[in-house]
Amino acid sequence: MGLDEDALEYHEREPAGKVAISTTKPTNTQRDLSLAYSPGVAAPCRKIDADETDAYRYTAKGNLVGVVSNGSAVLGLGDIGAQASKPVMEGKGVLFKRFADIDVFDVELDQTDVDAFVASVAAMEPTFGGINLEDIKAPECFEIERRLRDQMDIPVFHDDQHGTAIISGAGLLNALDVVDKDVEDVDIAISGAGASAIACAKFYVSLGAKRENITMCDSTGIITQSRADDGDVNEHKAEFARDVPDGDLADAMADADVFIGLSAPDIVSPEMVRSMANDPIIFAMANPDPEIGYEEAKNARDDTVIMGTGRSDHPNQVNNVLGFPFIFRGALDVRATEINEAMKVACAEALADLAREDVPDQVVKAYGDQPLQFGPEYIIPKPVDPRVLFEVAPAVADAAMESGVARTDLDLSAYRERLEA
Ligand code: NAP
Ligand code: MG
Repeated sequence: MGLDEDALEYHEREPAGKVAISTTKPTNTQRDLSLAYSPGVAAPCRKIDADETDAYRYTAKGNLVGVVSNGSAVLGLGDIGAQASKPVMEGKGVLFKRFADIDVFDVELDQTDVDAFVASVAAMEPTFGGINLEDIKAPECFEIERRLRDQMDIPVFHDDQHGTAIISGAGLLNALDVVDKDVEDVDIAISGAGASAIACAKFYVSLGAKRENITMCDSTGIITQSRADDGDVNEHKAEFARDVPDGDLADAMADADVFIGLSAPDIVSPEMVRSMANDPIIFAMANPDPEIGYEEAKNARDDTVIMGTGRSDHPNQVNNVLGFPFIFRGALDVRATEINEAMKVACAEALADLAREDVPDQVVKAYGDQPLQFGPEYIIPKPVDPRVLFEVAPAVADAAMESGVARTDLDLSAYRERLEA
């Protein structure tokens, strides 16, 4: 059977879908039921009424994330609407549970109006310990996230933006180490100026890249100051406008040290790869088909080409599942009020550090005994590596405490031991 038939059978098999709710306390006796519900349940209600933070103590809030979408930019499927996005949001819940034991309510809102969407999500704050915005189209996603972060006292994180930025950022730090270049010096050409590309560009600046060394292209070409002055680009693109002559992607890539693709398939040629600086880094992440194929890019030149894609069938997969489960794990466990830049940088650095360590045999086996050793073909850890949980979550929790957004303090070594157990 093909993948599509298999997937339909997987989802249709009884019970339909792939998630359910389970209870965590005894429910066998009349007494149990009167503790779980009326009249006993009034006692925790009164506690929370007196002190809202007791919601973390007496309810599931602290381990519950809302995966919220309006279905306006779903995978590569586009604007398929809220109902059709539900399998994806349930799937995100599966990943949260599988990788970090976090519970998810998936919330598909039939709402494309920004004001109404923001009001709906903000009103759900009592339910959740955090909000993962998902598959919301650009540029609305930027405003939605900004306003919700302002209004809400729990983490709000748009994974399509920041997940990609963090994982590719980790890969970038290691790739630069392999080719012995400094993040502050490199010229970065970015193809794409949508949700993920804008977030990546901003995050690379947090990692030390110089804004003036970033050249961003959209479907029209380089985002230049003159295009920005003409009002030809939105405010988010305009932040990266460069004072250079108008040009296309080939112009942007000439002499660049790094290419970041978050745009469209097959738009980069071997000639364009050859025009780049020595030992180029190429993260061609358009899904399912990258801006240039893995082999094509590697074979375009004789020096080291460090290639990453969004695909699992090549080395260096930029896979968001390396980020969101563990970022939320660390954020929830300190009852963070937000996921800030320091926590994202901590996540990227922890992932980058982990890729330099020896890989356990069980992980090597899971990947068909490919040699997984730090170098051009291995700059990002693998998702099934169990160490990701207990390396990344404590790093994120620590950064939350250090940057003053944690509501509780954790003893990090005890926390780490608890995660390893
Ligand atoms: P998006 O918000 O729709 O942005 C797409 C951007 O690509 C737009 O700025 C668009 O330009 C630009 N573009 C389209 N065709 C182009 C071309 N021929 N040359 C240059 N730019 C072009 O989409 P997104 O969510 O950022 O995702 C973009 C791509 O990255 C998708 O293929 C997605 O699957 C992939 N992605 C991969 C990962 C991963 O591997 N981990 C993560 C996130 C996204 P205009 O602004 O002019 O329309
Ligand atoms: Mg997504």
